[in-house]
Amino acid sequence: MQISFHGAAQTVTGSQHLLTINGRRLLLDCGLFQGKREESRRRNRHFPFDAAQVDAVVLSHAHIDHSGNLPNLVKSGFTGPIVCTRATADLCGAMLLDSGHLQERDVEYVNKKRLAKGEEPVEPIYTEEDAAYCLRQFVGLGYRQPFPLLPGVTLTLLDAGHMLGSAIVVLEIREDGGQPRRLIFSGDLGRPLAPLLRDPASPGPADILLLECTYGDRTHPPLEESAAALGEVIRQTAGRGGKVIIPAFAVERTQLLVYLLNRLYNAGELPEIPVFVDSPLAVDVTAVFRSHPECFDDETLKYLRQDPDHDVFGFRRLRYIREVEKSKELNRLTGPCVIISASGMAEAGRIQHHLKNNIEDSRNTVLIVGWQAPNTLGRRLVERQPVVKIFGDEYPVRAQVATLNGFSGHADRPALLAWVKGLGRPPTHTFLVHGEPAALTAMAGGLRQELGEVAVTIPELHQTVAC
Ligand code: ZN
Repeated sequence: MQISFHGAAQTVTGSQHLLTINGRRLLLDCGLFQGKREESRRRNRHFPFDAAQVDAVVLSHAHIDHSGNLPNLVKSGFTGPIVCTRATADLCGAMLLDSGHLQERDVEYVNKKRLAKGEEPVEPIYTEEDAAYCLRQFVGLGYRQPFPLLPGVTLTLLDAGHMLGSAIVVLEIREDGGQPRRLIFSGDLGRPLAPLLRDPASPGPADILLLECTYGDRTHPPLEESAAALGEVIRQTAGRGGKVIIPAFAVERTQLLVYLLNRLYNAGELPEIPVFVDSPLAVDVTAVFRSHPECFDDETLKYLRQDPDHDVFGFRRLRYIREVEKSKELNRLTGPCVIISASGMAEAGRIQHHLKNNIEDSRNTVLIVGWQAPNTLGRRLVERQPVVKIFGDEYPVRAQVATLNGFSGHADRPALLAWVKGLGRPPTHTFLVHGEPAALTAMAGGLRQELGEVAVTIPELHQTVAC
């Protein structure tokens, strides 16, 4: 067998690992590389392999850095099945279309600049239509149901607990003339005991392990602390007549917040103020969450039965907003409220309007609930810069800024090490992917400490290994 690491190698973006087994090619994930505009365009447009020669794709979960280049793979000649859980297939229905739309919008902006310089216009990597077209190749599976994927390769998807539909990929492989072996790809692993989803499964021994290491060098604060602090921030802000503005990714983080707010509301721990989720994508994605209770953990299912309106993503004071006009109406609200809006790092989307309108009022709070990349508006707020630029204009930051770091959807270092230990005997080959160099090195050290001298490789981009 050969494995080529074409993405998420010594970085956290663009997950793509190409396996060659019995002469067939199987791609694990087909993520979009997300970085600086020019580099992203170059890397995403052309695959380092012939898309038409790929026999099948297995998709671990719907996040764009794992799924986002599938429309381009199909456009480039891939005609095989894209196999994932049913929830992941449904999420991709909303997320890839949105991604295609964003690609088109981005190219409009780029072409305006190119035109001014007398340069040729460029085409989007893919369009919304390309995204819709690729959805026809999706095959949705249930968890824990072995599926004959290719000759000598059986696929089973197990709970990864990272986002709705996320899966650990288990391949039972029998190569011509060889012993059966198990390859396990962790995908992105979630946090044990996190709300909503079942915990990451323990898949048993692996001969070959591809392990994500996003937080290989870090320990998260407990989620319950951040959940309790969420209520506290809202109560305090409402108490002084202010609004709480929360930049949040439309997928997963928004649903987690709504779920926690629902619980606080039912427990009488939220003030009677309106709560808005202002993002068309979040509206679509929440509908997908509602239609996949088979992914929920036992606690959530019990809670769903007890909820007054049998909806853990809705309560009396909560409104979802899709239309632009309704979004604009929020600007005219005077009393306390909560507004959750995308994007999660406040670099685009409706959240920028809400920040612009509310950041100068000291009664308000901007609540940061996720990691903020350098050079984003979200990061500048976390750093409490006194003045920030929004839509080209400068605004003094008079609102409070609160940061809750406990909502990460990724397992931290102790959880990753415990998960690998739980596999049983150490894998023969372990490849560390999906991490920055410091996290990968720290995880390699941790694994050797926990498991003894084991073969751990940190592959380079486009490196091919035989095993
Ligand atoms: Zn992910």
